[in-house]
Amino acid sequence: KNPDITCQLVVLGSGPGGYSGAFRAADLGLDTVLVERYDTLGGVCLNVGCIPSKALLHAAAVIDEAEAMAAHGVTFGKPKLDIDKLRDFKASVVGQLTKGLAGMAKQRKVRTVIGTGSFVSPHEMEVHTAEGVKLIRFEQAIIAAGSQSVKLPAFPWDDERVMDSTGALEMKDVPGKLLVVGGGIIGLEMATVYAALGSEVTVVEFMDQIIPGADADLVKPLAKRLGGKVKGIHLKTKVTEAKAGKKGIEVKYEGESIPETAVFDRVLVAVGRSPNGKKIGAEKAGVAVTDRGFINVDTQLRTNVPHIFAIGDIVGQPMLAHKAVHEAHVAAEVAAGHKAHFDARVIPSVAFTNPEVAWVGVTEREAKEKGLKVGVGKFPWAASGRAIGIARTEGFTKLIFDEETHRIVGGAVVGVNAGDLISELALAVEMGAEAADIALTVHPHPTLGESVGMAAEVYEGTITDLY
Ligand code: FAD
Repeated sequence: KNPDITCQLVVLGSGPGGYSGAFRAADLGLDTVLVERYDTLGGVCLNVGCIPSKALLHAAAVIDEAEAMAAHGVTFGKPKLDIDKLRDFKASVVGQLTKGLAGMAKQRKVRTVIGTGSFVSPHEMEVHTAEGVKLIRFEQAIIAAGSQSVKLPAFPWDDERVMDSTGALEMKDVPGKLLVVGGGIIGLEMATVYAALGSEVTVVEFMDQIIPGADADLVKPLAKRLGGKVKGIHLKTKVTEAKAGKKGIEVKYEGESIPETAVFDRVLVAVGRSPNGKKIGAEKAGVAVTDRGFINVDTQLRTNVPHIFAIGDIVGQPMLAHKAVHEAHVAAEVAAGHKAHFDARVIPSVAFTNPEVAWVGVTEREAKEKGLKVGVGKFPWAASGRAIGIARTEGFTKLIFDEETHRIVGGAVVGVNAGDLISELALAVEMGAEAADIALTVHPHPTLGESVGMAAEVYEGTITDLY
């Protein structure tokens, strides 16, 4: 069959990985086609992930801050919620960004094809569009088909009261009682939103701490503050059964910390995401997919089939938008004949909870497990003028150094704006900064960012009177 479309590069999926890869490739002169099954570009991140969640978290933070000011002499009325308007705000934020992407694609002459794509050979992809099946013949391809939330079979998914993160972001209502299954980043961000809007939220986490990837000390301030806003955070506990009942979703638990509540108006299941590797006909292109649906790649993001690249969530952890974007740029550059490699030393992780939790590089736990000789400089925000001034002293900044070289290998921040503060640590690790470089960098006063320089000084021993 003759192809309907021929191109130098086809990109499957238009999330942060896909659109970044397509745009960079087009900028480098490749004739590029972007395939996306949904009507809007932007993937999970823009449509049902990073962006809408942060718009709702902004509302939650404003409510929280207004409430907290009562203790300091400024009292606002009880927040009045117009849920339709809040939903509109979220939709307008998403709309602005996804429309922007469509414009950027056009500007670069990236052709977009809306439909579900599947490889049919190493150089051909079929796309099922509203106007029928289109055959694309390509020289090279980038797979950026992303991931989807894990749907635990114990839950009655045909009942709309059981939601994944996409359902929770739709915000059909503010449930009286909400159960959040999974105390990872996504579960806790949504718990933060719904608790601020007035739901009675219960969080159940199977592991022995929330956000299990982060150091235990880092999540403590969050556990404490969020713990005061929700009905309970239950660790080492899991939901074993969930049934749709007349009064709500009835759940059964197993574990060390069984919640009192067993019937919920809504249940959010946020227990992780699984890659879409098995749904794209990869085998017909000869691309190897692991049992779990991931696609392995080398440092140039090439799969086992050298002219087919893969990027983003589908190639593995961490499943984060900024990782997808950087991988995309490398894949596009390699496809255009450049000698690029993905060699980021570290990729930061952020939970946009309240307080925010952010970390990058080696954690203390990892250092211990791997027997790395590290030293820690920790600056508690109780000693930060700025943190005191905004009445948010629960945070801290922690830097982790290689004991031999005094070079920073990792770091973490918990507190207001931790997600923004972590960038300096990521840069420091990438640049191979030593403790002295950070300590001698003049940080503006009074800022939370100063805590980074102070933590380096703690490590160096030039600040000694904190504890
Ligand atoms: P995706 O964004 O998953 O995009 C893949 C695209 O491919 C989708 O649009 C999909 O429709 C399309 N597709 C798949 N198969 C086909 C097919 N066969 N044919 C056509 N199209 C197809 N990350 C952060 O860094 N920061 C955050 O704050 C953050 N918050 C999040 C909040 C939530 C609630 C969720 C769910 C995720 C969040 N993430 C966050 C993770 C982030 O969304 C992902 O890491 C990121 O979207 C991955 O990008 P990607 O390009 O690999 O894939």
